[in-house]
Amino acid sequence: MNFALTEEIKGILDTAHRFVEREVVPRLKEENFKRDMVSKMGELGFFGCAFPPRYGGSDSGFLAHSVVCEEISRGDSGLRSLFNLQAMTVPYTMMEWGTEAVRDKYVKDLVLGAKLGCTCFSEPNAGSDLAAIETQIADKGDHFEINGSKTWISNGTVADYAVVYGTTDRNLKRRGLCAVVVETKQTGWIARETPKLGDKSSPIAEITLENVTAPKENLLGKMGDGFTVAMTALDRGRISVSSGAVGLAQACLEASVTYANQRIAFGKLIREFQQVKAVIAEMAAQIEAARLLVRKAAWLNDQGLPFTREIAIAKYFSGEVVVRAAGLAMEVHGGMGYSLEMPVEKYYRDSKLYQVGEGTVNIMRLLIGDDALGIKNANRPRFHTPSEFRGQE
Ligand SMILES: Cc1cc2nc3c(=O)[nH]c(=O)nc-3n(C[C@H](O)[C@H](O)[C@H](O)COP(=O)(O)OP(=O)(O)OC[C@H]3O[C@@H](n4cnc5c(N)ncnc54)[C@H](O)[C@@H]3O)c2cc1C
Repeated sequence: MNFALTEEIKGILDTAHRFVEREVVPRLKEENFKRDMVSKMGELGFFGCAFPPRYGGSDSGFLAHSVVCEEISRGDSGLRSLFNLQAMTVPYTMMEWGTEAVRDKYVKDLVLGAKLGCTCFSEPNAGSDLAAIETQIADKGDHFEINGSKTWISNGTVADYAVVYGTTDRNLKRRGLCAVVVETKQTGWIARETPKLGDKSSPIAEITLENVTAPKENLLGKMGDGFTVAMTALDRGRISVSSGAVGLAQACLEASVTYANQRIAFGKLIREFQQVKAVIAEMAAQIEAARLLVRKAAWLNDQGLPFTREIAIAKYFSGEVVVRAAGLAMEVHGGMGYSLEMPVEKYYRDSKLYQVGEGTVNIMRLLIGDDALGIKNANRPRFHTPSEFRGQE
């Protein structure tokens, strides 16, 4: 076993660290979508870790992707959310399942941050249960026509390209699902921003699709592959999300350490109190455990090995850890935890997402429990093209 990061990954981490300190931390309280940040992160190669050079990437892998996501999230969790859209659930899904035409037309611009992506699974009546998707995808001979409603779509108001999941026949349930790449700059793509608690660097939208069209070559996989496409996309996305949870938890720990080293009560620094120290120790221990789980799953992915079970465990655990860490950080800060002057109130709001997005806590427990009980093997083979493009020039 080798837990050391390679020199290449250390270099990427160092670049990300400098970017966070210079560009992200000073703008922490500007809680809005920052287009310039997407461009900068794209240009610095942050989205491209898992992509070959031909598509704007560095081919440094998923562990590198995880390390970058963690560092960005330490700076601003909302900016990390963009990694799902600019790296994983949109362009990586196109790489893995798309035709050559799709890869060539869309992937590089997303990876470089020149264009913005979004991914459309969720609907008013279909969240955890994706087989209940109602959006209709109709085969019109030379193109697809798409009608329906999507909800909770990150980047929905700003995206240029979307991966839209829909059904050709609801009676077929999951076997009727298809995934299609849609260009959003067309009549019929109607996006309305919805306000939310945290994660505000990443805007959320309700989308109505009215006779939206896409060429046939924009189908990902085959007709009826949509459910499997979604599951592989979610596995990849869970690497970003879990890494983001670890990064945000780390930010909570760092803020707590700073405060405990400054605040005086009963004539001494609060770090001298055993109970404050115990809280700091709990945070540090849980973060380290979560980090190891996430990196193991990312490493398995880099080896081309199944990792659905491992990333579900990492996602579940890191989601619990970050929410706990954010609560403990508020506690260490006393009244100042509640103040808008300090970053921890933002961390607290941002943390809750990690128990919901990319599969809720319960859905992760379902997957892990089914596997542990021998009901359903989480790591059963399902990858259509297991990263066959890795190592390409
Ligand atoms: C900030 C944010 C960003 C998001 N971004 C996107 C995005 O970009 N694209 C996208 O498509 N979606 C996105 N989502 C939606 C997200 O994926 C869903 O909210 C999530 O999958 C849960 O679906 P739901 O909200 O419909 O909850 P539901 O599925 O209705 O679940 C409600 C509750 O019931 C529980 N539950 C449901 N089924 C079961 C079961 N079988 N066993 C036990 N418990 C169960 C859940 O765990 C949860 O506690 C985002 C959500 C948030 C909060």
